[in-house]
Amino acid sequence: MEDKPKQGTRLALLVVERLHLNIKCQTAKDRSRTDATTALRRLVIPRPDILHTYLDYKQVNQYLQYLAQRYAHFVHVHILGHTHEKREIRALEINWMNSENVELSPQMREHSPRLFDIGPNGRFTVPVIHVGEHCRKTVFIEAGTHAREWISVSTALNCIYQLTERYTRNIEVLRKLRFIIVPLVNPDGYEYSRTKNPKWRKNRRPHKSAKFVGTDCNRNYDIFWNSGPSKINRNTYKGESPFSEPETRAMRCILDRMSSNLLFFLSLHSYGQSIMYPWGYCRDNPIYWRELSSLANSGKSAIKSYNGREYRTGSISCLTKRTIAGSVVDYVYGVLKVPMALVMELPSRELGFQPPVEMISQIGHESWYGIREMCKRSFDLRHQIVREKEPPLPWPSRHESSNEGVAIENTSTTTEETNTAGGDFAKTTSKKKRSKRTTIRAQHENILRLQRSLKAREALDLPEGIQALPPGLFPRQMEPQYPPIKQSGLSRDGQGGGDGAILTSRGKPTISSPVSLVLL
Ligand SMILES: [Zn+2]
Repeated sequence: MEDKPKQGTRLALLVVERLHLNIKCQTAKDRSRTDATTALRRLVIPRPDILHTYLDYKQVNQYLQYLAQRYAHFVHVHILGHTHEKREIRALEINWMNSENVELSPQMREHSPRLFDIGPNGRFTVPVIHVGEHCRKTVFIEAGTHAREWISVSTALNCIYQLTERYTRNIEVLRKLRFIIVPLVNPDGYEYSRTKNPKWRKNRRPHKSAKFVGTDCNRNYDIFWNSGPSKINRNTYKGESPFSEPETRAMRCILDRMSSNLLFFLSLHSYGQSIMYPWGYCRDNPIYWRELSSLANSGKSAIKSYNGREYRTGSISCLTKRTIAGSVVDYVYGVLKVPMALVMELPSRELGFQPPVEMISQIGHESWYGIREMCKRSFDLRHQIVREKEPPLPWPSRHESSNEGVAIENTSTTTEETNTAGGDFAKTTSKKKRSKRTTIRAQHENILRLQRSLKAREALDLPEGIQALPPGLFPRQMEPQYPPIKQSGLSRDGQGGGDGAILTSRGKPTISSPVSLVLL
């Protein structure tokens, strides 16, 4: 009797034993399930075909996720914020020189920073801010701000593809530079454009006070925002206030945080086939316009040598023939004082905003040649540009700020804007049209008068066909030669008003209509 445990105790022991066994089984089962799931997830994330199709929002995210998992030692996804329709705005960081990169030597790893930091809310990661002398080495690329410009998203994805899946071919730039790429800034608009209205441009946040939806994110940044288009029914509506939109707030968050590390900022759009530098909001030139111009020209030459495609370069206000306030590139260059910032308008007028899928790969590859060259050039130029002691930004003059309104409103009567709004536009009255025409004519006459008086006063020795310019009206960078451009069938009067007339009166080769129609 003494050897045997009591009945109750034995039962209890049995229960404990069974329980223990159960727990062990459960844990082992759970673990194996977790392992299997992880392995499965690793295997299962399929790689979307970025080179031959326009991806939807989910596929874009899936591709970023796929890369972050496959190249976890130098690729990381950051969530920048959420849109009105609760989509995530994501950035992919590609940072070869980081302490987790097993392909680096132990010494290099020791001297490299981490791949990411945890943000203040503890939920999301944020890029590490580098401190020290050589901290400016980040290239920031953004695309998909304008919903209908699908090719810009595909091209940004192609840059990502080159820097990750083809990283051995691009190791030279990866060793020198860190990349942060936001391939889809405006996912709500992009999805709407894919599924409902391919010509949609703005985001999808409705306005409280009107039946209209959407703001142009590239007019919503806080740089002379006031001079932007304030008509809610316009395709280029600037929003209720600077940074009123979740997309621009998300971008501001990362850009402000990283401003001390940014070397080169590139904003991808379509379809002007041009590489442009600030300013957009006024016709003045920035102090370092020569460096910016040389940077843009390096990209232009690289693309030309790749497949012969001719890009044009110049300042935004000059090439688009209007002033554009509140754009991201002016904000980054003017407010954050990033040394170099450009806009690249992808090809082309003939192809439109959504070229056939067969062109995705070609445009992606040729653009990458140009972009990679500009990245290298920006690295070489980094010590030549010191922006700290620059004088305050030039103000847009009254003439310039009013010019944008006129130009944009005027284009709205052409195909571009009328088609785009998907029925959201108010009808323009003939009275308004008349008053616009009068303003344009008055401006035009003023300019011609200025030019005539200048010509009479000064006997300048100018090449044949080149007339003198009113001082300060156009910057110096107008001088470079323009590549021959085919004349389009559209008459200038029908789409540009005063601006087109200015260019003609200068005796320059006529800029054909595509650029004046592209709204950046
Ligand atoms: Zn655009």
